[in-house]
Amino acid sequence: MGTLRILSGMRPTGQLHLGHYTGALESWVQQQNLLTEDGSKVYETCFLIADYHNLTTSLETGEIYRNTLDMLIDWLAAGIDPEKSPVFRQSQIKEHTELFLLFAMLITSSRLERNPTLKEQVRDLNMESLTYGHLGYPVLQAADILLYKGEVVPVGEDQIPHVEITREIARKFNNHYTHPVIGEVFPEPAPIITKFSRLVGLDGKAKMSKSLGNTILLADGPEDVLRKMRTAVTDTAKIRKNDPGHPEACTVFSYHGKFAPPDQLLCIEAGCREGSLGCVDCKKMCAAYISQELEPLIEKRRDYESHIDLVKNILLEGEAKAKVIARNTMQEVRTAMRLGETT
Ligand code: SF4
Repeated sequence: MGTLRILSGMRPTGQLHLGHYTGALESWVQQQNLLTEDGSKVYETCFLIADYHNLTTSLETGEIYRNTLDMLIDWLAAGIDPEKSPVFRQSQIKEHTELFLLFAMLITSSRLERNPTLKEQVRDLNMESLTYGHLGYPVLQAADILLYKGEVVPVGEDQIPHVEITREIARKFNNHYTHPVIGEVFPEPAPIITKFSRLVGLDGKAKMSKSLGNTILLADGPEDVLRKMRTAVTDTAKIRKNDPGHPEACTVFSYHGKFAPPDQLLCIEAGCREGSLGCVDCKKMCAAYISQELEPLIEKRRDYESHIDLVKNILLEGEAKAKVIARNTMQEVRTAMRLGETT
């Protein structure tokens, strides 16, 4: 099996937080750098800044470029290497919308209305009605993936329905249209279930989210991390320092599980249960582990921030690379569909 192409993306929402880091960025960097025994790449990774997808839930675009650069700086600081993985904005590759339009003819609205992820979004965001674009966002996602002929899609269990829609669209296109030379234009991308490590927010109620104000940003320095950590919800049954606690009911312990050295984790758990460890000290320790993890990212972030033209160029170069792939795919699509023939 040769190198497989993966397309992953995020909406440009500005500076990223620890939830983005453990939930996606860390595995993106691993996929980017993964080599086979003979030293060849397992994956060819491409990273999409999904700015059109932002519009499904907000029409505000005033900060979109600033947010794009902020997010890209976090990607780069976390280890995304633009020499290995092109980074590009969806809105700058016009073929995304062209393929989206063609794909929209291959799927029924009732199929999209049955999308369980959409139903959850409508419920979580208290939406009274949906725009046509929001209903169709799995179709845009299919265009995003298939424009670059993504062969695998790393997803959490909850996103499998989206990949299924992409596979259905690829199948339907290939059944209807055949390219005279290459035959089937699109691969049917396979989902690979990634065990994303989701972090609960500081409030302990939901996942980390900027809109809920329960995050630690990747750009937060040690003082900010400690200040925020002091607000983290702990086991409510542990009121005094020496009360025995229940780490499994504590937000801070869930962070320790991700950031503390494994041998320390056992001591923290035992200390909490025995009542020899108090929450104030435990939070200080946790903040220190997180800051230790973030230190190299913050240093790199500072460097990129002081060379913002370099970051802008990385984006332009990524977009130039993406355009070549996108143009080729659309040429194949038009040929297979016999669009634009003159005789
Ligand atoms: S000691 Fe640590 S793990 Fe135990 S409840 Fe307090 S903060 Fe949570």
